[in-house]
Amino acid sequence: MKTLNDFNFKDKKALIRVDFNVPLNDEFQVTDDTRIRAAKPSIIKILEDGGSCVLMSHLGRPKGFQEEFSLRHIVEEVSQIIGVQVKFAGNCIGEEAEKAVAGLENGEVLLLENLRFHEEEKLGDEAFAAKLAKHGDVYVNDAFGTAHRAHASTAVIAQNFADNKCFGLLLAKEIESIAKVMEVGEKPVTAVLGGAKVSSKITIIDNILDKIDHLIIGGGMTFTFIKAQGGSIGNSLVEDDKLELAKEIMAEAAAKNVTIHLPVDSVIADAFANDANTKVVDVTQIPDDWMGLDAGPATQAKFAEVIAQSKTILWNGPLGVFEMPNFAKGTIALGEAIAEATKSGAFSLVGGGDSVAAVKQFGFEPKVSYVSTGGGAMLESLEGKTLPGIAAILS
Ligand code: AMP
Repeated sequence: MKTLNDFNFKDKKALIRVDFNVPLNDEFQVTDDTRIRAAKPSIIKILEDGGSCVLMSHLGRPKGFQEEFSLRHIVEEVSQIIGVQVKFAGNCIGEEAEKAVAGLENGEVLLLENLRFHEEEKLGDEAFAAKLAKHGDVYVNDAFGTAHRAHASTAVIAQNFADNKCFGLLLAKEIESIAKVMEVGEKPVTAVLGGAKVSSKITIIDNILDKIDHLIIGGGMTFTFIKAQGGSIGNSLVEDDKLELAKEIMAEAAAKNVTIHLPVDSVIADAFANDANTKVVDVTQIPDDWMGLDAGPATQAKFAEVIAQSKTILWNGPLGVFEMPNFAKGTIALGEAIAEATKSGAFSLVGGGDSVAAVKQFGFEPKVSYVSTGGGAMLESLEGKTLPGIAAILS
């Protein structure tokens, strides 16, 4: 796998696909700069080598040129984070961009305008990709968030660079982290799948059963499994058309020697609200009109024991409705168990949507091995799909 570290960028222009699709408030200020910070190490390495950086990204979902989606809004924020005054070109192709690139000196950084102002970007248009390719000697893909898209700047462009293409440091870290779980994970390997629905996780389950030793199931998904086994789940979230599927998953796991761990108790509520009445009951005996919204204390202890014995841990999806403080305890307890195991030497990867939000909200980010930056890309990786942005660099 070729990364930035395999190149010396002295006197070279690096064309870097970054993911600066950051949230902006009404005054066009960046409200979460995580993605900009994540791109910093690659940019610094190139500048320290004595090269220059041409950054390209999308922002939002514009229809043609729309001022509110201009990357111009983030120039100062990027400059502050990188520590270099970033230049800006008001178009990512054409004369303005070419002039700005031609004038770029070693040690300088240029940000190109939003790629998605041109519909050719999402269409993966080859001619458009070739125009972008003119801006750099080496193509660097450092945007994991869009690695599952076969767009012009994320995948198609790579064909213009022969061997002069590589993964940025962020993307390389994402790939390595996924491999640490899915390919070379030290045993026992445990996956925790929570979140709302079985249907959205089925492809992941199918793919990971061959790679793991333990599967912890939590969150809303729980109740489809409990009902399939004959339990009473009251008003809890359930997918009645997936009951057979739940049974098949249990059978497949048994055949593959994967131990499935289901909750044993549940914090139930008489309404889907933080101030609802609650009690803790056996997960198979939820009364009518009550719904399970969090993992109970016995479940938390049971899951913590499995986690404590794991050497590799993958976490996707919360164990309860963590957005409401009264139903966040199961998710927090799991985070604590994973943090503890990580401290003792386990490798832990958190990825895909809401578990990332939970980990950040409850302060576990520095206590796990790696938190993925790409929601959809991470999910597709866990599903075993080849991501176009990664394949394009490897080919
Ligand atoms: P997902 O995007 O599939 O990972 O689902 C995340 C969502 O699942 C979060 O918004 C949680 O509030 C929700 N969730 C977790 N546990 C439950 C539950 N027991 N009942 C309903 N929703 C849940």
